[in-house]
Amino acid sequence: MESTTCCVVGGGPAGMMLGLLLARAGVRVTVLEKHRDFLRDFRGDTVHPSTLRLLDELGLGERFAELPFPKLEEMRMEIAGTTVVAADFRRIPGRHKYIAMVPQWDFLDLLASAAAAEPSFTLRMCAEVTGLRKEGGRVTGVHYTAEDGTPGEIAAALTVGCDGRRSVVRREAGLVQDEFDVPMDVWQVRVDAPRGGIKDGRVFARFGGGQAAVTMDRGAYFQTSYLIAKGRDAHLRSTHDIQWFRDRLGGLFGWDAGVTGAIRSWDDVKLLDVSMGRLPRWYAGGLLCIGDAAHTMSPVGGVGVNLAVQDAVAAARILARPLREGSVRLHDLARVQKRRRLPTAVVQQSQLGEHQLIRSALDGTLNAATLPLPMRLLRRAAPLRTVTAYLGGVGIRPERAPDFARA
Ligand SMILES: Cc1cc2nc3c(=O)[nH]c(=O)nc-3n(C[C@H](O)[C@H](O)[C@H](O)COP(=O)(O)OP(=O)(O)OC[C@H]3O[C@@H](n4cnc5c(N)ncnc54)[C@H](O)[C@@H]3O)c2cc1C
Repeated sequence: MESTTCCVVGGGPAGMMLGLLLARAGVRVTVLEKHRDFLRDFRGDTVHPSTLRLLDELGLGERFAELPFPKLEEMRMEIAGTTVVAADFRRIPGRHKYIAMVPQWDFLDLLASAAAAEPSFTLRMCAEVTGLRKEGGRVTGVHYTAEDGTPGEIAAALTVGCDGRRSVVRREAGLVQDEFDVPMDVWQVRVDAPRGGIKDGRVFARFGGGQAAVTMDRGAYFQTSYLIAKGRDAHLRSTHDIQWFRDRLGGLFGWDAGVTGAIRSWDDVKLLDVSMGRLPRWYAGGLLCIGDAAHTMSPVGGVGVNLAVQDAVAAARILARPLREGSVRLHDLARVQKRRRLPTAVVQQSQLGEHQLIRSALDGTLNAATLPLPMRLLRRAAPLRTVTAYLGGVGIRPERAPDFARA
């Protein structure tokens, strides 16, 4: 049977960052990822200022800067016909005063290639974890299925669940999240890049008239998230034809048929089922969950990737030494949760607030008169936009690269 010191389940932002950092600490680490590559769309394409600083500290800033990406310097939204700048990153401290809108596969490829340079790092693609090994109530590794369907086992001193919102690790460990109510699901579509961009190039979100959507310029196409009321997907598809959706989306962003015609049928409209929750306890003997596996994030504000990365940095800093010394105690795992619980709770609380805005946008009650107080304040007080940019882009308790990982 194979063995490793730390088995990381899931090669998303949390798993790849944790794998890289632990490998730089000299810990034997194996990351298992169920997909063949990182080429999946709609996974969250925002790299925040605190992650950009981290990449600099890891010696990866220059390589990251070579990727082609638009910079989002402010979050400008049109809400019920009123323009609101929800965050202005240009005034936050630090070198990176923007969110880099990078396809997540580019970001993950960068982490994977940096990690591949470390002798103690192993990445196994097409390896789907199906269960946990347990001895005496303690998790001692994982069971997985390889690409050809062969079952395998890996023994590990510590298993870290970085396998996202539908975490198998979390489920198999018997850890149950407290769930939060969410008002929406998301339809993801690609439309052709409109000539001349969108009406106001800096406006990327529009709410009003019973609709809410966000769009991102990806050069040849625009990736667009259209929000629908929770659980309404099947009903809407069965009662409307695709032209109805094209017309609504086009009307919201001012796109003509040449743009929305890229949506040929309902098959081009992908449903992303939104959920949100948080584990009361992120760990058990021999096991830790981080990222969405520990606290499933709403897509609102586009912060889940950053939070997952920050969890990984904290986990690596706290656990590298016990892992090298061969004894990870519950107390060490509890320290990771203690470190990351507050920043997570603060972000989720603010997402719950934003859900209220979405709820009223989707039920058609959002208008200039019912604009929530924080939005009205943001319109009037520019310094507040710096505060929201700092909280969103850097966050409370931002993690710095541990010394052992710096290059
Ligand atoms: C519709 C939607 C849009 C979003 N948009 C944004 C955004 O723009 N910006 C942002 O910051 N956040 C966004 N988020 C949130 C963001 O996607 C997550 O918070 C973030 O990806 C969490 O990272 P993670 O590494 O914890 O998990 P994930 O990114 O989910 O990665 C988990 C990895 O584990 C792998 N995996 C799963 N199960 C197994 C298994 N059994 N065995 C092996 N591997 C497995 C998966 O293939 C995946 O690679 C969005 C979320 C949703 C639902």
